[in-house]
Amino acid sequence: LGPRMVKDALFTYVRPDPQGESELLAVSQRALQDIGLSEDEAKSDEFREVVAGRKIITWDESKPDKGIYPWAQCYGGYQFGQWAGQLGDGRAISLFESTNPSTGTRYEIQLKGAGRTPYSRFADGRAVLRSSIREFVVSEYLNAIGIPTTRALALTLNKGSKIMRERIEPGAIVTRFAQSWIRFGTFDLQRVRGDRKLLRTLADYTAEHVYGGWDKLPSKLPAGDVKTTHSQTDTGVPKDTIQGEGVDAENRYTRLYRAILRANALTVAKWQAYGFMNGVLNTDNTSILGLSIDFGPFAFLDTFDPTYTPNHDDHMLRYSYRNQPTIIWWNLVRLGEALGEMIGAGLNVDDEVFVKDGVKEADADALVKRAEGVIDRAGEEYKAVFLAEYRRLMTLRLGLTTQKDSDFEELMSELLDSLEAFELDFHHAFRRLSGIKLGEIETEDQRKDVAGRFFRADGIPRQEADSRERIGKWLGKWAARVKEDWGEGRDEERQAAMLAVNPKFVPRSWILDELIERVEKKNERDILPQMMKLNLDPFKENWDWNADEEERFCGDVPKYKGMMQCSCSS
Ligand code: AMP
Ligand code: MG
Ligand code: MG
Repeated sequence: LGPRMVKDALFTYVRPDPQGESELLAVSQRALQDIGLSEDEAKSDEFREVVAGRKIITWDESKPDKGIYPWAQCYGGYQFGQWAGQLGDGRAISLFESTNPSTGTRYEIQLKGAGRTPYSRFADGRAVLRSSIREFVVSEYLNAIGIPTTRALALTLNKGSKIMRERIEPGAIVTRFAQSWIRFGTFDLQRVRGDRKLLRTLADYTAEHVYGGWDKLPSKLPAGDVKTTHSQTDTGVPKDTIQGEGVDAENRYTRLYRAILRANALTVAKWQAYGFMNGVLNTDNTSILGLSIDFGPFAFLDTFDPTYTPNHDDHMLRYSYRNQPTIIWWNLVRLGEALGEMIGAGLNVDDEVFVKDGVKEADADALVKRAEGVIDRAGEEYKAVFLAEYRRLMTLRLGLTTQKDSDFEELMSELLDSLEAFELDFHHAFRRLSGIKLGEIETEDQRKDVAGRFFRADGIPRQEADSRERIGKWLGKWAARVKEDWGEGRDEERQAAMLAVNPKFVPRSWILDELIERVEKKNERDILPQMMKLNLDPFKENWDWNADEEERFCGDVPKYKGMMQCSCSS
């Protein structure tokens, strides 16, 4: 057993190999809907067998092409900034693609933890229950709060399986799905190997089949600076960057690169706005579609600390909260290099690249040189798209309907500074702000009093008097801005708008730990399905479950359980 180099191919056919006895632990109802399966279909034996890796449903001997057969993808990646060579799906096996008949969206359905593949290297191809619960919950949560992500359909326990990690743990399989599982690392590997033919095939496939065609990609950027104008469009993308001179005016691989860049800028902006950290943003964990992907030592912020990294081994804070936008850009520059010859080729790309046996060395260098200018400029677009989206979301979270520069330079940064200084909870701040009526904060004394709502229920923040003073002042500024946007007497409307963007439930590390403990050690079987109610509808005020449990899971982080860190072993 050891690494097997897979050359001249982007995937390998491979069979799932489930262990032990399968027990279906949970199914995401939202995922069922999105795939286009009914609840009854999910109760069938066939469903259970497929999600457990015990049945392959699309293999058909009678078809001339024999239908489809499970496969594992080949990719490489830069890990913590260093080239790590071939990685690939070491414990993920794709089963088939499936199109939801009502939405037309196509998904690649995949099992994680169903056994070894040619990409397993020295590892076992398994996933432990602990990390599988974490992935199952967080994928569905991110989707529920509107953050693009790979999804989770089902969680199956491999009863009796013994997986060696730091201790012996039970194994599990997550059935997951995404419109594409292609990563930046898929491109990196072929670039490092110098396989121009595969790189081109991969780029064309990504444009035509993942993005839905070259005509769906953004058109040429207008000349001049890319402005960070405040968007009033639905998508939050600055208007000026989506106007263009027609699709033919820009090299099509540049447009593909820009589409990937924009998708990732939007997603990282959403992570920042909602305090989510992936924890290992290597290029093999960065999606070509801008999906949140690969859930290892991820976490949400508890208190607002920009230097926090959920990854115990991330000593340089490379993957900390505040670094995420920069790191995604670093990854995008690697992708730009992989596409360099194609991007640098200009409009007559077919004449310039892959003439006969490929480009000559000298030509290739010139093309890559030209691509550097394109990538630099794309960096401006990345910033613009990121900022517009971040500002759009923070405006909504603050309950404002218009944007002013001062909202970011003063209102927002002062709030975040206070949260950081007094170690207050990031999520509670926005949810509790949503509950405040303007009539409650008219006088200075009232404001100081209401400021206490930002504090922990079970303790006093550092420098209490100071924090009441500061947050009280801030509430005064905030109230004035809210009045500007809404006028008087519209508390209810404004509060409803805020509650719809500021979640009450957040699957924090301590909650996931408790969930794991109760499923794994105490053998509870209701807790996960019940928790999924909160997880799939996190903006609600209460759920049809157990009021005490609900309040606890939505309440203050228990002492010593905040800002936990996680190792990569999973
Ligand atoms: P990650 O740190 O999750 O991005 O994983 C890096 C690489 O290690 C990927 O190629 C994974 O497929 C592979 N890998 C991680 N854990 C295992 C495992 N238990 N068995 C096989 N491959 C694994
Ligand atoms: Mg990975
Ligand atoms: Mg992983």
